[in-house]
Amino acid sequence: MSIQENLEHIKKTLPDHVTLVAVSKTMPESDIREAHDAGQLILGENKVQEMVDKWEDLPKDIQWHMIGHVQRNKVKDMIDFVALIHGVDSFRLLKEINKRAKNADRTVDCLLQMHIAEEDTKFGLDKKELHEIVASEEFQKLKNINIKGLMGMATFTDDENQVRQEFKQLKSLFDELKSKLPDINILSMGMSGDYKIAIEEGSTMVRIGSSIFGARN
Ligand SMILES: *Cc1c(COP(=O)(O)O)cnc(C)c1O
Repeated sequence: MSIQENLEHIKKTLPDHVTLVAVSKTMPESDIREAHDAGQLILGENKVQEMVDKWEDLPKDIQWHMIGHVQRNKVKDMIDFVALIHGVDSFRLLKEINKRAKNADRTVDCLLQMHIAEEDTKFGLDKKELHEIVASEEFQKLKNINIKGLMGMATFTDDENQVRQEFKQLKSLFDELKSKLPDINILSMGMSGDYKIAIEEGSTMVRIGSSIFGARN
């Protein structure tokens, strides 16, 4: 199936309130043009340099989402154009984004990444860190970032029940946070293998790569 057909097929299965991020990491620009021509304007990348290179070459109506782990020294490279940073996993990173956004005279939308998986290899904050950040005076002073919600990745496993429990946990953190930050409205959870479960558990944004562009090397 072509990229266009894959996109159409997936979009048919998504409820209206769920936004699709097409994850184009490692994929050539020709594939991204195909997705763009099919009307897909939200693309996700997990490496800053690769996203910068693609942003330079590709149509400017693409909204670039950074979905991977971000090193603080790379923030400045994407600050002028990044549309949403999903992987904010430390207060230091959030402060760096705020500083760079201020210099660039813009406000940058961010998601806080939560650690919900059993694996240690996945990045993210725990519940205590989340609440400490949000409750701090320093956080209130960050005027050039806008927290839009939470992001998380479930454990890589065939155990659907475990994946569902992890998504439920993230949804409940989201609901708790919403009582403190009522404007948050994005819950980024679900990838090619688990997005249907994620949507059942309250996802509003899915990040899908291989089911659109094919397997990565
Ligand atoms: C690669 C990646 C995805 C997409 O994964 P697929 O299984 O190809 O859909 C989603 N989220 C993050 C954070 C990723 O790094």
